[in-house]
Amino acid sequence: MNDLSGILYIVATPIGNLQDITQRALNIFLQVDLIAAEDTRHSGLLLSHYGIKKPFFALHDHNEQEKAHVLVEKLKQGSNIALISDAGTPLISDPGFHLVRRCREAGIRVVPLPGACAAISALCASGIASDRFCFEGFLPAKSKARKDKLEDLAEEARTLIFYESTHRISDALADMQAVLGDDRYVVLARELSKTWETIVGDTLKNLRQWLAEDPNRTKGEMVLIVEGKAKSECNDDISPQAVKALKLIAKELPLKKAAAIVAELYGYKKNALYQFGLAQSD
Ligand code: SAM
Repeated sequence: MNDLSGILYIVATPIGNLQDITQRALNIFLQVDLIAAEDTRHSGLLLSHYGIKKPFFALHDHNEQEKAHVLVEKLKQGSNIALISDAGTPLISDPGFHLVRRCREAGIRVVPLPGACAAISALCASGIASDRFCFEGFLPAKSKARKDKLEDLAEEARTLIFYESTHRISDALADMQAVLGDDRYVVLARELSKTWETIVGDTLKNLRQWLAEDPNRTKGEMVLIVEGKAKSECNDDISPQAVKALKLIAKELPLKKAAAIVAELYGYKKNALYQFGLAQSD
């Protein structure tokens, strides 16, 4: 650790309700020399709400790799810097990873200030198992890539968390229904901490119907919490990797052949895989 260096603070900011800033965040904003922000105009408004004026440095997805070294140099020279994003916790589907990595490599102290994060707020209110979960961020924008990603996750027993946008929510839920089935339980958490906060849970089939009834229900910022595959639905004896391989190969070859290949690869009985494949295609 370089004692003469400054500190990089990773500061969470509100995801809607401005009262969700922490006292510690406000103190750090007053203390630091510089604030690195995604959109300096947006963050300027946020800070002026709290009566704070500080120099900004633009660090966004498109320039982070190139600009991180400038910030590292400033930190090495003793500047203290706060990293914020447009909303919530930096690095969580937001820029900052490359900067933090470089700081840690350079022996610069990185101090996280906990605060709002849409994924965690949604999970906490979802009523879906919160002991083990996978944060998946945004699904791909194109349907083919999105379905491939969902296929990869279809057997996952842990709770899945996705960020989604108002433009893609309907298509994403349609693809989820196609891949995960009508009955998978999902919670849509929309506009958290804001006026139109809505948290609604149902099966994929019913949730899609509910959304279709009123276009306003697809508006705003949203998180999807998807229940993991129920234990009784999982084939306890066949690993998720083998199930995935079987599904992929069975797309190209007859199920019997696919079962034989996967049996060879993973050391299962051919017939067990064949029967499993048949049950899946029912
Ligand atoms: N870093 C942020 C965090 O800690 O949650 C996430 C940034 S990511 C670019 C923005 C996405 O987060 C939105 O598209 C939405 O999926 C989710 N999000 C942000 N604010 C939200 C809110 N108030 N309610 C629901 N979802 C929100």
